[in-house]
Amino acid sequence: FLSGKRALVTGSTSGIGLAIARGLAAEGADVVLNGFGDKAEIAALCEELGANHVAADLTTAEGAQALMEGAGAVDIVVNNAGMQFVSPVESFPAEKWDAIIALNLTAAFHTARLAVPHMKAQRWGRIINTASAHSKAASPFKSAYVAAKHGLDGLTKTLALELAEHGITANCISPGYVWTPLVENQIPDTMKARNMTREQVMNDVLLAGQPTKKFVQPAEVAAMAVFLCRDEAQNITGANYSIDGGWTAK
Ligand code: NAD
Repeated sequence: FLSGKRALVTGSTSGIGLAIARGLAAEGADVVLNGFGDKAEIAALCEELGANHVAADLTTAEGAQALMEGAGAVDIVVNNAGMQFVSPVESFPAEKWDAIIALNLTAAFHTARLAVPHMKAQRWGRIINTASAHSKAASPFKSAYVAAKHGLDGLTKTLALELAEHGITANCISPGYVWTPLVENQIPDTMKARNMTREQVMNDVLLAGQPTKKFVQPAEVAAMAVFLCRDEAQNITGANYSIDGGWTAK
């Protein structure tokens, strides 16, 4: 149902973004990938999805501008690129704060402001932001990430109101712990640091706050993103959908 539509997914060379890109491509969208990684692997992904890749560092306004120029007129923008840094606030490096706010929040402002004119002209558009359970609740030592994700929720609501009469929706999807390389790679270090087995790390550390005791799968996030692009979702805007196994219900 998305043939003829062009979809940009930021941070789509891995994890959740890649799953969303696959989901949109499967529905016929012309996909633009973005993100870092091995050249040969990215070329293989472009081949698999019939996609283009625009390498741009979204921690800067120039990078966001270059991405939007490379992507061309897009009908769907998924702001998904993000990063994390964990530290007590008094030793949180200021440059890490700036980079996290730039990538997880400001980049979405830039892609939206640059994509909206085309969306308005054709009276159809979808802006989907990968937020996080941390857009609704905080955890200690994640000041920049929590602030950026709460900010992304606010930006999304504002876009929803401004664009409602133009056939453009803006929504957040807010996962809990998703099974991506990012999460999987934390397990060996945590096993060592806490002298725990793999199962103990998964159940007692990572999934401690997730009542279903199951990791969210990237494909589940992708399915929600695809649904938000359907005409049946035209009245869903300004929403922030949790896919977090009950984390934020507590
Ligand atoms: P990931 O590390 O697997 O993927 C991140 C992607 O962003 C990669 O494609 C990477 O190349 C790209 N990227 C990183 N820095 C970039 C930059 N400066 N410019 C452009 N692209 C850049 O991560 P993921 O787990 O798939 O996370 C994707 C999104 O989902 C993030 O916004 C993250 O905050 C959010 N999220 C993840 C989880 C989780 O448990 N994995 C939970 C909630 C929310």
